Amino acid sequence: MERVAVPHDGVWADGRAVISVLRAAGHESWIAGGAVRDLLLGRAVDEIDIATAAPPEEVERLFPRTVAVGKAFGVVVVVLAPGHEVEVATFRADGLYIDGRRPTGVRFASAQEDVQRRDLTVNALLLDPCDGTIADHVGGRADLAAGVVRAVGDAAARLGEDRLRVLRALRFAAVLGFTVETATWQAVCACDLTGVSRERVVAELGKALDSGAGAAFCRLCAAAGRLQAITPGLDPGPAASVLERLGLAPREATLAAWLHPLGAEGARAWLQVQPAPASWRRDVPWLIATAPALAALPAGARQRHLQDQRNPSLVAFASALDPDKADIYRQWQDLAGKRGRCPLGAADLLQAGFAPGPQLGQALRAMEDAWLDGSASSPEELLHCARQHAR
Ligand code: ATP
Ligand code: MG
Repeated sequence: MERVAVPHDGVWADGRAVISVLRAAGHESWIAGGAVRDLLLGRAVDEIDIATAAPPEEVERLFPRTVAVGKAFGVVVVVLAPGHEVEVATFRADGLYIDGRRPTGVRFASAQEDVQRRDLTVNALLLDPCDGTIADHVGGRADLAAGVVRAVGDAAARLGEDRLRVLRALRFAAVLGFTVETATWQAVCACDLTGVSRERVVAELGKALDSGAGAAFCRLCAAAGRLQAITPGLDPGPAASVLERLGLAPREATLAAWLHPLGAEGARAWLQVQPAPASWRRDVPWLIATAPALAALPAGARQRHLQDQRNPSLVAFASALDPDKADIYRQWQDLAGKRGRCPLGAADLLQAGFAPGPQLGQALRAMEDAWLDGSASSPEELLHCARQHAR
């Protein structure tokens, strides 16, 4: 069996601690899934999942602090210390899938059976964190080395059982930069996505966007004919180009890049029917409407947007939309950062003889705009500007 070097610290130490307890009690136990894949690829690992022969009740008995997150499926979280949590799942075989989403039941099983229920071969490797042994029952090691996404077992059957696997296959191909093996690709293209909940679809899209692989995910979804199931009416060309230029960015910006070919109203309509937080519903259509118009806005209004802490994504998204303007956007953003708040306020204008009322508001705004766009800096210049607008 192949052996690899396993880090000593961080999540790996937690995983090793849990496995040592399980093994001392006589239960075969492994690190499984994404952590093994990412370790072998040299990618960062921030979460460890353990697969074990111990039934959930036994896991609860062996550790003083546990949370039964999915006991019916054999999943228990072991809490070693605050912030040190490890998910422990009993080896299981899934029962029949009848709704394209969930098995009718599970039965506890062997390690060999457990890996057969996993979606992709690269996600089905087992690792002993104590001696670095890899157990590979599905050919995942060769697929990792060759950069191939392949369903475990019969691709059409496996993707049909749980249709979310269609999007998972595309996401892993995009994020890892892998190709999709032929039979898996055929299943990805053929299997329809009816019945997959919006929550799970949006979560997959979000993971692809957050890993900076939005452009690749967009192109792959379009090539497989799956894009319309995620965002009806979306033109993949401009979405992918803007995502590519944007790279890693906050979710509001990547979502704006994904949705911008639909226009602000189209994006609003799509977000309205998604399980999206209120901040996305507010910020994403605003970004799509504001970013292309940024350069044409009056200087004061533009600088106001750039100074607003709620708009950290505006310059990134606007620059990805129009890379020729990226330099000037950056200069405007620097100016907004340097200026801070206008040193004079309403009280200063009243003291300088302005009368209370709507004209005071206009004068104040004009003065603040002049401060923000750099056209007035000293108190005299600011008061002069305010007087011009109060007439
Ligand atoms: P990441 O967390 O980076 O998305 P991961 O591989 O850890 O990647 P999870 O969704 O956390 O993915 O799932 C952990 C493991 O559980 C996977 O590696 C895979 O073996 C299995 N798995 C997850 N979802 C499914 C599914 N829908 N069908 C079959 N197996 C799955
Ligand atoms: Mg994971």
